[in-house]
Amino acid sequence: MKAAVLHGAFDIRTETVSDPACEPHGVIIKVKSCGICGSDLHYYRHDGHDGTIFGHEFSGDIVEVGKDVKGIATGTRCTAVGFAPCGKCYWCSQGKGHRCSDMALLGYHFAGAMAQYVHVPFAAPGRNVFPLPDELSYEDAASVEPLSISYFSVNRAQPKDTETVAVIGLGVIGLYAIQVLKAAGVKQILASGRRPSRLAAAKACGADVVIDAAGQDAAKIILEATGNMGVNTAFECAGTQTTFDQCVDVARGGGKVMLVGVYEDALTWQPLPVISKNLSLIGCLGGNFPASIDLLKTGKASAKQMITHRFGLDGVADAFRAQNSDPAAIKVMIQP
Ligand SMILES: [Zn+2]
Ligand SMILES: [Zn+2]
Repeated sequence: MKAAVLHGAFDIRTETVSDPACEPHGVIIKVKSCGICGSDLHYYRHDGHDGTIFGHEFSGDIVEVGKDVKGIATGTRCTAVGFAPCGKCYWCSQGKGHRCSDMALLGYHFAGAMAQYVHVPFAAPGRNVFPLPDELSYEDAASVEPLSISYFSVNRAQPKDTETVAVIGLGVIGLYAIQVLKAAGVKQILASGRRPSRLAAAKACGADVVIDAAGQDAAKIILEATGNMGVNTAFECAGTQTTFDQCVDVARGGGKVMLVGVYEDALTWQPLPVISKNLSLIGCLGGNFPASIDLLKTGKASAKQMITHRFGLDGVADAFRAQNSDPAAIKVMIQP
């Protein structure tokens, strides 16, 4: 089959590799749609994981089912999450493989979905393989994974409909967070980002106030817009020093800062405002596929505002270039 293989920094190539074999506990999915994730870009830029076949935001059709797999039929349209617990650590021995301390992930430690076919191990419907309702296109379904991360962070914050929130950092995760917050009915959403394409998307996703942080002091505008009260919850979705500081600045007394963005660099920070304002800094890493599928099915969330570029497998080098450096790019999709 054809697959996109990483060979080093900024060097990804479409090649012929052997088809995946179906393990007794696995399924093979013929890939229809696969998104490029920010984490993929990190390895693409930093010369890590040579030989990797990326792709963990995907959808397709089941074409082969392992003999030990129950409740999944060939021909099923689905999305899936691929992980293989180590089976040896404390959490695995407690039957809590989802907390495994040595988890292998599809698209990083073993071959992902930027290929014609992908093998998903330990397949179980409703646990890591999710059949699609008719309302979801393959592109919607490939968006369930990033949406589920945003959903998880919003759900962890439990915002009330009387509350004001800020979303700082308008990558795909921040933009989906706006959609989920809108669906949750929060009173006011203030969004801050830097690229015009993403500012426009934030508005389309339901942000009430959109701040161009490239030319404006985002924290000052958020404080002014809230009568100097600040927001109940600030979602940090960029993973930088500046945006972290802004979130601490704009969170009101007793408020929350949700840490959603991935930090490439360590922070230097003064804990005093966190202490004096009794803020909660809350780390967010998790997902909820069924809730996200439901948001897409009911139209409360949509991939439409996100997807800006589409490439076939042969165009994968161009696809990564676009995702990495085209200012208009929000989410770039591969269609094998
Ligand atoms: Zn991802
Ligand atoms: Zn384990």
